[in-house]
Amino acid sequence: MVSRVIPVDVFDLVIFGGTGDLARRKILPGLYRRFVAGQMPGDSRIIGAARADLTDEGFREQVRAAIAEFVPKARQDQAAIEGFLGRIHYVSIDATGTGGWAALKALMRENVVRAFYFSVAPSLFGDIAQRLSEYGIADAWSRIVVEKPFGRDLASAKALNAVLAKHFNETQIYRIDHYLGKETVQNLMAVRFANILFEPLWKAEYIDHVQITVAETVGVDGRGAYYDKSGAMRDMVQNHMMQLLCLIAMEPPYHFDPDAVRDEKLKVIRALKPVPKEDIVRGQYGAGKGEKGYLVHSENPASKTESYIALKVQVSNWRWQGVPFYLRTGKRLRARASEIAITFRQPPHAIFDDATGWHANVLVIRLQPNEGMDLMVMIKEPGPGGMRLMQVPLDMSFADALGAEADDVPDAYERLIMDVIRGNQTLFMRGDEVEAAWAWTDPIIQGWEARGDRPQTYDPGSSGPEDALMLMHRDGRRWREIRE
Ligand code: NAP
Repeated sequence: MVSRVIPVDVFDLVIFGGTGDLARRKILPGLYRRFVAGQMPGDSRIIGAARADLTDEGFREQVRAAIAEFVPKARQDQAAIEGFLGRIHYVSIDATGTGGWAALKALMRENVVRAFYFSVAPSLFGDIAQRLSEYGIADAWSRIVVEKPFGRDLASAKALNAVLAKHFNETQIYRIDHYLGKETVQNLMAVRFANILFEPLWKAEYIDHVQITVAETVGVDGRGAYYDKSGAMRDMVQNHMMQLLCLIAMEPPYHFDPDAVRDEKLKVIRALKPVPKEDIVRGQYGAGKGEKGYLVHSENPASKTESYIALKVQVSNWRWQGVPFYLRTGKRLRARASEIAITFRQPPHAIFDDATGWHANVLVIRLQPNEGMDLMVMIKEPGPGGMRLMQVPLDMSFADALGAEADDVPDAYERLIMDVIRGNQTLFMRGDEVEAAWAWTDPIIQGWEARGDRPQTYDPGSSGPEDALMLMHRDGRRWREIRE
């Protein structure tokens, strides 16, 4: 296959928090892979910035260790690693003080793309934005990348937006949601808008319901204190799952253009109905099978934070009238599996009787593991013995379709960072989208806080709380099995 990758300009990328966990696990290994792919053109550089007193050489050793740990062995090429390390620099800087800022300014070059990745706690965003502007380090063409969480409610999200807006235009701000960088998530847009097959059926008349599942096997281990202030609704639903829902539910944008796409997503968020309490199930994993239980990890024996949530969500517009979107996400579940499943309705007139084994068509979009899509269709079971139907997948697995090249598909962070350098905001959340998402989320959280609702305990390694099954059963539907 001939490469049709859009080239990037020469850049200087400063990573505030370059010594932190996210930089080590995702950003730096991802950039190494882009370097190997030839996407760090000319003398593009990466500048780590944190308070630790390190030399360039000292930081390079950290980057070398991060590559050794987080890049698959088969992709570790010593010559490439040395070449990549040659692009790495470091400045010791205090986001809240004056130390290091003049040194950073001296290091920056003219006529290259300047990007600043805020891989630090959100409480530092304002300080960094202000100093970048005060010291004249950022110019009108510079871009800043900010990490989740973007606020913990509408008020804090508005405050963050306001702090950033003091120094940067919206066109310079890249709010990252790594779910949007996933290959399959973008493929969802390609499948919907580059084919005639699906879009005519993409509405209440033909779709029965949608399920979005993000299931994790890991618990909150080690992050208990942080997670306890967040919970599944804030950590997963308000951002990642909301974005997935938007891509399924949005109208076709007039063009594949950042604002056109984001305008359509925003309309979906604004059309979300408030969720009544009977359409929400919250859970917290208990102890068992070697697991100590959420309460032990959270260090708060009275915690009411949910490690699981299931919701029935309605989009209040013509296209989706009466089509429920069932969302569920949780930790310590039976398998690590994320998928979107779109279940179509029955044909209007059934010519085969029930005994033939009819099942609805389902389009399954797998986000992990094994990114890909399956379209479940009915065919005749082969062989004699009359008309019996069977459901088979039309498999659109990337690994099969792309062969060896599937290995080269950039991961979400790599792709998104390169989009920042290209100046393409399509896959980043706009400020008004984030605020609209919180405006929908806030009353839901306030509701259970005001009532003092306690999440239902569920067994680690299970599919979640019993009541979540009922959420579907009472509508005559069932969750798909959670499996890898
Ligand atoms: P972390 O491991 O605690 O790293 C924080 C980084 O910030 C370190 O490099 C630290 O280095 C630097 N730092 C702290 N205070 C500073 C200051 N005053 N001035 C300059 N640098 C300072 O955090 P992380 O897990 O990498 O997370 C970074 C951001 O990404 C957070 O917003 C987090 O919510 C978000 N995020 C993380 C993950 C993840 O998987 N880790 C996933 C999604 C989002 P020094 O102490 O040397 O200054």
